[in-house]
Amino acid sequence: MIKANDQNIKTWIEVPENSDFSIQNIPFGIAKVDNEVFVATRIGDTVINLYKVARLGHFNVAKEVFASCRLNDFMLLGKQATRDVRDEISAIFNATNELAKNKMELQEALMDISEVEMLMPVEVGDYTDFYSSEQHAYNVGCMFRDPNNALLPNWKYIPVGYHGRASSIVVSGTPLYRPKGQQKPKDDEPPVFGPCKLLDFELEMAFITYEGKAIGDSISTDEADDHIFGMCLFNDWSARDIQKWEYVPLGPFLAKNFGSSVSPWIVTLDALEPYRTEGSIQDPKVFDYLKCDGDKNIDIKLQVAIQPENTEETIVSNSNYKFMYWNMNQQLAHHTINGCNIKAGDMMASGTISGNDESAYGSMLEISWKGTKSVAMADGTERKFIADNDTVIMRGHAEKDGIRVGFGEVSTKVLPTK
Ligand code: MN
Repeated sequence: MIKANDQNIKTWIEVPENSDFSIQNIPFGIAKVDNEVFVATRIGDTVINLYKVARLGHFNVAKEVFASCRLNDFMLLGKQATRDVRDEISAIFNATNELAKNKMELQEALMDISEVEMLMPVEVGDYTDFYSSEQHAYNVGCMFRDPNNALLPNWKYIPVGYHGRASSIVVSGTPLYRPKGQQKPKDDEPPVFGPCKLLDFELEMAFITYEGKAIGDSISTDEADDHIFGMCLFNDWSARDIQKWEYVPLGPFLAKNFGSSVSPWIVTLDALEPYRTEGSIQDPKVFDYLKCDGDKNIDIKLQVAIQPENTEETIVSNSNYKFMYWNMNQQLAHHTINGCNIKAGDMMASGTISGNDESAYGSMLEISWKGTKSVAMADGTERKFIADNDTVIMRGHAEKDGIRVGFGEVSTKVLPTK
């Protein structure tokens, strides 16, 4: 039983209705106010400077980890220590804790979210992107190959993935330039060079790891939970025209590495435990090292909106993280079965998450079905892919029994080619 997950806990901090940041959430992020950078959590719209809280002697770990500009030092403490910190935060802000509420030094650690700039939460050492939603893999297979053989023969045996670029992962609010590169729009003509014309988002979630094991060792599906710190929203920006020309034979390269965007708050796997749900039936049977006990999928409602400049947004997708065929435990077990080591702060993205229904597709490639269908925007314009100065916003939250644990959003504006 994780103490901070107790549904009966109320907090003395005001929490707006439908806030993603209930007292049962207690995510971690990196905040900046004036020139001070610190590890923070959030309850409602209140951001809490955990370095100030640590200096009051509240946590059983070195206070310096909370003065860091990255969560990596905190994650290096391991699962039990970070769980204890989250439990202690829950106790401090519990509505029954009159002593804390009236403590002036603690009040000085609180500020409104509007006063804060959120920074990249993690120094990402290595980034891996999986391809674990069956509907997404099926849709792409239908479009580019053959509806009768949409899934490649390896797909139900291997959680397919590739190593991506860590340096260009940016936090929500950071604009990205439309990439340029080689494309081959016509089969019977030579390639052309120019700005990407088919710029796309990919609705994904990512998990962030604790320190793993030495090279040569593996993490089993049973052990995986102890190596996963938490999750964030992840937009795996994709240049479809560049991708189509370059991906053979080694996979995605410049079509993906110009940028990926993440939400600033890392919601712990602990906070998501109450929202576990059963996964897909896996047929054919998976290899022993990929077998899992218990419910390993998580019910997280996901949404994508496109907001053209100076106008209102239009929601283009409503999906759910529970649609994953391969779960995080299987992804991590597969990633390490060959002896590959993982480090604290590695980021592993799910792959585009598409549901069975058209309204749950997780990319414009699928929503516009390769550009054959337009999507109407609220301002009267239409989209097949993402236009310059559009902002793409992804949101996600889990909710059960009136308790909501969410991620806020990852919002990214696309600027014209530089
Ligand atoms: Mn992807």
